[in-house]
Amino acid sequence: MKKVIIIGGGLGGLSTGVILAKNGYNVTVLEQNAQIGGCLQCFYRQKTKFETGMHFIGSADEGQILNKMLRYLEIEDQLPLSRLDTDRYNVISLEGQQFEYANGKDAFIEKMASYFPSQTDNLAKYCRVIDSIASASALHTLKDETPLNAAGTEYQLRPMDKVLEELFTDPLLQKVLAGDLPLYAAERGKTPFSVHAFIMDFYNQSSFRIIGGSDIVAGALSRVIAKHGGNVRTRSKATRIVCDSTRATGVETNGGELLPADYVIAAIHPMRTMELLAGTNLIRPAFRHRINHIPQTTGGFSVYLRFKENAVPYMNYNFFNYNAGTPWGCEQYDEATWPKGYLYMHTCDTPNQQFAKAGTIISYMRAEELEAWKHTTVGHRGKDYEDFIDRRARGLIASLAKQFPGIRDNIAGFHVSSPLTYRDYTGTENGAIYGVAKDVALGSAGRVPHKTRIPNVFMAGQNINSHGMLGTIVGSIVVCSEFLTSGFLYRHILEAGK
Ligand SMILES: Cc1cc2nc3c(=O)[nH]c(=O)nc-3n(C[C@H](O)[C@H](O)[C@H](O)COP(=O)(O)OP(=O)(O)OC[C@H]3O[C@@H](n4cnc5c(N)ncnc54)[C@H](O)[C@@H]3O)c2cc1C
Repeated sequence: MKKVIIIGGGLGGLSTGVILAKNGYNVTVLEQNAQIGGCLQCFYRQKTKFETGMHFIGSADEGQILNKMLRYLEIEDQLPLSRLDTDRYNVISLEGQQFEYANGKDAFIEKMASYFPSQTDNLAKYCRVIDSIASASALHTLKDETPLNAAGTEYQLRPMDKVLEELFTDPLLQKVLAGDLPLYAAERGKTPFSVHAFIMDFYNQSSFRIIGGSDIVAGALSRVIAKHGGNVRTRSKATRIVCDSTRATGVETNGGELLPADYVIAAIHPMRTMELLAGTNLIRPAFRHRINHIPQTTGGFSVYLRFKENAVPYMNYNFFNYNAGTPWGCEQYDEATWPKGYLYMHTCDTPNQQFAKAGTIISYMRAEELEAWKHTTVGHRGKDYEDFIDRRARGLIASLAKQFPGIRDNIAGFHVSSPLTYRDYTGTENGAIYGVAKDVALGSAGRVPHKTRIPNVFMAGQNINSHGMLGTIVGSIVVCSEFLTSGFLYRHILEAGK
């Protein structure tokens, strides 16, 4: 059996581990933290559970793409799901009005057309464009022979805001449809329309919370790896990928133990991979430079709310609010204008939940704001930092209270994470919310390849294809195709999905 060491026990590393372990590879996943999962991790405060980076998933109904993949990963039956309101899984609050996204193409068009009757034809066209983009991807159709239609490439090269302007004459509707952009940290003029299209397609088909928290996904994947003879090691930080003059020979952990490997897959931020490969000249300086200068998405600042018992009715949808009348440019703020927008969600602990125990508010925070504390670690950042994040958290709660009057009376306590927290728990550069940013101007120079110049070293995780539940698993399929071929994987995923 060929020995594969996978660095990183997040969704990317664990799903890659499952695919290879079930297909005859001897897999070891190394996770630096005590808890596996990366962004799937949850934490408890006063017996209340909070999710840190996976609040809802899409396309999980029978026959839909994520459902097929979860079946192939052998975890579909281990994830208890709670469906979000089908007639308003997302609510966009803008300019004093609220607009709801409904699941399903026809219901979505009908709902949007009720707000914007003059745009009905344009909405139908918008949905056709999204369909054509999703169906141009072999990884979504799971067919090797999927023809790359014009939409597949065109909309990777055109910014989302420009395409929305072209499709819709009503500027308010353009903003409403961009209202979910915190889910991919889109920036005007940069983010390809295809990113928006894939997310819209993913959640519009069906949307769910994971009952009991996203760490269930990590635990389930880890058990499948073990079932197939693999091994997930926590508190095992990779400190070096060891190479001879032509290839990698193993991975050094915690600065000491050397684990021999036939293949190494780094499912971590690509800049961290470059650090692990610092000792070899097998990586070209130009490649290192490119990876080390790829733009990152903005950081995320999260406030975790612990509610009083039976006080806050469970909100079975996601609420996006914009204070400045537009979803665009919320990452460009100053002390006086922050937060320009936020995303607010409740966690789901039981089926048919009546009241929420916990909620999360997520807004942007730029890395420069945290410059003074960049050399500190979790729990040791000092009083200045604690004061700063406390002030920001209260600002965010005050902003929430404008939309949800009385909410403050029902909050028993709150907890905070900043981009530095994400940086320290996941190794993501600057705590960038979704890792590397896509930018139409950079084209392929802005992409992170799954192959490196070292023949047995690969990269996986959210930076390869895209972030999120589906995007990251698709990245795992891309890297595993190098071992098993894409045709083999597509066939088996389709069979598992039957
Ligand atoms: C605030 C937030 C909200 C989100 N909400 C959603 C959502 O609702 N739905 C959705 O689909 N997606 C969501 N996402 C995105 C999704 O969570 C991520 O795209 C995905 O989980 C990333 O998985 P990953 O394995 O690529 O990276 P990570 O989760 O970052 O995992 C990387 C792992 O590698 C480990 N590691 C790093 N360096 C080393 C090393 N040297 N040695 C050993 N281990 C190492 C880290 O500790 C970490 O566990 C959200 C993300 C964030 C931040």
